[in-house]
Amino acid sequence: METTTPNWLQKRADLSPERTALIFNDQTWTFGEIFEIAAKTAGKIAGLLPGSSRRAAILMNNTPETVWVIYGLWQLGIETVFLNCRLTASELLYQIKDSETGLIIYDCSLTDTVNELSKALADIPIISVNELAERPASEPAIRKEFALADVCSIMYTSGTTGKPKGVLQTYGNHWWSAAGSVLNIGLQENDSWLCAVPVFHISGLSILMRSIIYGIPVILMEKFDEKTVNRLLSSGQVTIMSAVTSMISRMLAKQGDQPYHPAFRCLLAGGGPVPKPLLDICKERKVPVFQTYGMTETSSQIATLSPEDSLKKLGSAGKPLFPSQLKIMTGEKEAKPLEEGEIFVKGPNVTPGYLNRDEANAASFKDGWFSTGDLGFKDEEGFVYILDRRSDLIISGGENIYPAEIEEILLSHEEVSEAGVTGIPDEKWGHVPYGFIVAEKPVKEDEILAFCRERLASYKVPKRIIQVKQLPRNGANKLMRRLLSKLI
Ligand code: ATP
Ligand code: MG
Repeated sequence: METTTPNWLQKRADLSPERTALIFNDQTWTFGEIFEIAAKTAGKIAGLLPGSSRRAAILMNNTPETVWVIYGLWQLGIETVFLNCRLTASELLYQIKDSETGLIIYDCSLTDTVNELSKALADIPIISVNELAERPASEPAIRKEFALADVCSIMYTSGTTGKPKGVLQTYGNHWWSAAGSVLNIGLQENDSWLCAVPVFHISGLSILMRSIIYGIPVILMEKFDEKTVNRLLSSGQVTIMSAVTSMISRMLAKQGDQPYHPAFRCLLAGGGPVPKPLLDICKERKVPVFQTYGMTETSSQIATLSPEDSLKKLGSAGKPLFPSQLKIMTGEKEAKPLEEGEIFVKGPNVTPGYLNRDEANAASFKDGWFSTGDLGFKDEEGFVYILDRRSDLIISGGENIYPAEIEEILLSHEEVSEAGVTGIPDEKWGHVPYGFIVAEKPVKEDEILAFCRERLASYKVPKRIIQVKQLPRNGANKLMRRLLSKLI
């Protein structure tokens, strides 16, 4: 039998209509108000999707209108494709075509991109939020129930390792992801979650999901800005925040002597490696940081440190969350404690598969386990440590070298602001690591190499350090190591 739940937003509006749901700059909305706006937005969207299409894409930044459109689409049971606003028109075109979307809704700051897109997409209706607002609202049939197996969202992976893949995320995936998260960090009456990460990534969308399911406010930021974030964290208004490494570095650099408010109880740090020195600074300053491991395919977190382990296991991404499992495999065998291998995950928050990618699906799923493509190990107590992506691993003279470990050392040099490491073919060793750094002032290669020699085993010391203006990053601002060799 199909498992269904009541329409989440309608249910939340029924249970706690007066509670604050969304805060954006100086404006606030309750769940009751949000449900009304979503229903009205649904009335404006209804009829826009041509023919039998059940899929619409949104190209929208973090604004309240984005939230209305997302919630409006779900009231109608329309699958929503989340397009990354930072992508180029040709990158977007690939995702729009690949997802067979029947409608595109965009926010007006993206008009130039859309103008470029529309030439190639004459057959798909494209509408701005302003045009949508002008449309008359019909009284559409709002979904009374959500089937947990139905696809709710489609989100493309960042494309760090190859072409982005469309990840199907069901209502059930989101439900279990929210459940796993709250069973780890708990829920308090005063909780509110700061969303300074994009809603078009799973890190942002999962905050909206938790807000509806837990009944807590989201403080939405249009653009991450460390000064505003620091002010919010000192005010006591925010209890939980999700962030990636670069955001945390910028926040701490500008924190000054203003401590964060004791009500701020959880800084979820994920999306990529979190360098140990940064975690140490957080610990020193009593910033409640929790390293988390997750991906688009797991609808956000799959493993996270728990509050009681946060200090003693600094550097670990914790244990798999309550509904989930995680194992390390070396070939066909499960690894022993401390043995490095490939990370496999399983759980009701894991995607049923990629859209239109039979080959990737066949390669990624084995007996119900999802192969993440990441390498790591568990310690004797079962705490997970993420090493790196399998595709970025450097094998030099038979030794495994993890670029993230070398990057962490390079980043701890005071002149280095960004670092990337990749393997370059070498006659003697197979591959050798090369370091690429960004620094404000010119830095001497010898000095950085000496710095590395003091801190790394000799086979891990980069053969060369190359200073560059910028590192290759994708639309999610993630380092694309496979492009580093082009900088030589
Ligand atoms: P693609 O799959 O297209 O290459 P991507 O993997 O970068 O893109 P995301 O789903 O946004 O796309 O990112 C998830 C990945 O980020 C994980 O598989 C892992 O490699 C990395 N990651 C996430 N959390 C951590 C963490 N705590 N430590 C190290 N790496 C992490
Ligand atoms: Mg990935």
